[in-house]
Amino acid sequence: MPQIPGAWRRAAIGAGLLSADGTAQPTIFAEMTALAVRTGALNLGQGFPDEDGPAEVLEAAREAIAAGANQYPPGRGTPDLRAAIAEHQQRFYGLAVDPEREVLVTAGATEALAATLLALIDSPDDEIVVFEPYYDSYAACVALAGARLVTVPLRWPGFQPDLDDLRRAVTDRTRLILVNDPHNPTGAVLSAEVREEIVRLAERHDALIVTDEVYEHLVFEGPHVPLATLPGARDRVVSISSAGKTFSTTGWKIGWVTATPGLVDAVLAVKQWLTYVNGSPFQPAIAAGLRLPDAFFAGIAETMRAKHELLGAGLRAAGLQVAPPAGGYFTVADAAPLGATDAADFCRALPERAGVVGIPLTAFVTPERRADYATFVRFAACKRRDVLEEASARLAALR
Ligand code: PMP
Ligand code: GLN
Repeated sequence: MPQIPGAWRRAAIGAGLLSADGTAQPTIFAEMTALAVRTGALNLGQGFPDEDGPAEVLEAAREAIAAGANQYPPGRGTPDLRAAIAEHQQRFYGLAVDPEREVLVTAGATEALAATLLALIDSPDDEIVVFEPYYDSYAACVALAGARLVTVPLRWPGFQPDLDDLRRAVTDRTRLILVNDPHNPTGAVLSAEVREEIVRLAERHDALIVTDEVYEHLVFEGPHVPLATLPGARDRVVSISSAGKTFSTTGWKIGWVTATPGLVDAVLAVKQWLTYVNGSPFQPAIAAGLRLPDAFFAGIAETMRAKHELLGAGLRAAGLQVAPPAGGYFTVADAAPLGATDAADFCRALPERAGVVGIPLTAFVTPERRADYATFVRFAACKRRDVLEEASARLAALR
């Protein structure tokens, strides 16, 4: 196996992102999807929908291809998509964003996060504060950027951070606080108290805030509150989102950054050397999606809430304990009542025992914290109702 060179390798081995000999290993999502394919189990692991999103959006992409939108789009994204993103921020959050200078289209939220971290991290002493468990690419990108990850635990079953833990984590060494709300993998939506404390701490320690809001339209008791809308926050927040979850187009990889012109320019400076540009026929399609009526956005939140209810009932009936989510794609369940002591082992055996795939929460934590999350499993609710019903029926075998 070829070895991955350099300092990133050492940091990544330490963070559990590479195997001990420095070779690449598949992400937990790829591993679990492969397991589902191999065993024929229902894939409640990787978070992608198994149904198409709005027909108008799909049709707009076909039309764009037919009309010849097949070459490099402008570096910041097509003017029309940038306008649609700015309209969306105004419509849902009352945020005034200049589409010319304050919006950047990226290859999904993943590239937006990577480019933002690479652009804004200054030195190996910089600390990046994240809530733990965290989406896996955060630790990888912080390692790539050569900074230090500082984590604040989210504890079962509410998964809200403790304010004293948060205050201890943010110091003058903090370069940025990276906040995912609604949260993957726990389904938590930050309380107003936590949101306010994040902004206060960022001001006190002159840190930037980066938000990952890819589940912004999947909040079950809305509305979603972007950190950029808090008093005094707008100029220090880099807001990131993506079309993948809202329009069920995770394979299109259209994401975006909104921030002040200086911050957007900094992210663009890195983005142009990563992908240069992305997704020309998908950009007009997502512009059409962002302009859909309010009823569409309310509808997807309600549909997802009901799917979580169905999944949660199935998990409870199978004997697991459930932490009901407030937003997003995922429900976390505790397999300890079934005698599980290691969620990774439990998940590897689950296809054979019940024909279902889930993801151990330990995949989203630093190696030192694994024991605290040892029996928790993340299940994706973003699947057809008949799939969730069948999964519930199969999980009943665990009893
Ligand atoms: N952040 C979070 C919290 C996610 O769950 C995901 C993926 N589902 C991403 C970022 C990546 O988004 P994208 O597919 O737009 O790159
Ligand atoms: N975001 C999806 C999840 O959390 C998967 C994305 C990926 O495979 N990288 O399951």
